[in-house]
Amino acid sequence: TLFRPAMQLNLSPIGFIESCFKEKFGIPRQPGLVTAARARLKLIAPYDREEAVRGLDGFSHIWLIFGFHGTAEQGWKPTVRPPRLGGNKRLGVFATRSTFRPNPLGLSVVRLSAVDTTAGVVLSLSGADLLDGTPVYDIKPYLPYADILPDASGGFAPDEPDQSMPIHFSDLALQQLAQARSAYPDLQVLIEQMLRYDPRPAYFGASERDKPFGVRLYEFDVKWRIEAGGALVLAVERV
Ligand code: SAM
Repeated sequence: TLFRPAMQLNLSPIGFIESCFKEKFGIPRQPGLVTAARARLKLIAPYDREEAVRGLDGFSHIWLIFGFHGTAEQGWKPTVRPPRLGGNKRLGVFATRSTFRPNPLGLSVVRLSAVDTTAGVVLSLSGADLLDGTPVYDIKPYLPYADILPDASGGFAPDEPDQSMPIHFSDLALQQLAQARSAYPDLQVLIEQMLRYDPRPAYFGASERDKPFGVRLYEFDVKWRIEAGGALVLAVERV
């Protein structure tokens, strides 16, 4: 008989993410794709102590185990339609990185740019694929000797996704970016990197695909639409 210990874990967050991504739409589908995506992980008591992160600053990257708090209440499905396959082919949930999982846990490797322990513990991160407010349950250092796998094969997603979409900015958007530059020096790069992967949902009707879209980044509403095969950023408005 199969031995099934009643291993129920009671997880509680050790901290929360403050991210440039204020809504799900536009968030890259994996970490590392949008290197200008900045986030901070603020630890909470009783974990927000210097000893708990001692030695972490020697690592360039960390793994985060986090909760898909934005979609968790929608439950899970045994099959999902990965955007990488055009949204029209179903694969098993465990063959994908879908957010709709039996245990709504995410796993992301992100760049660790600073560890600040002057008031609590704040980790500065980049390359994140995380929604603002994401609860984090664990941090583990990225270990190159064990985590780099040069002989790995990538199933239905063998290579990095296409990022060939040309990005253009309207005069208005360029003006608005110039005004925001002192507070947000890499906002334009962030918008370019984010749009290059074409965040539009794969299963949109053809007529809907070219309507204007809005994405919230920091406190800006970024309006854009598809035009002549590329993305045109129409405006970057402070909300
Ligand atoms: N790298 C993680 C993993 O593999 O577990 C996440 C991959 S998942 C495909 C990435 C998507 O999750 C993002 O594009 C965003 O839409 C969504 N997402 C990020 N943070 C989330 C959160 N806290 N709640 C719900 N969805 C979230």
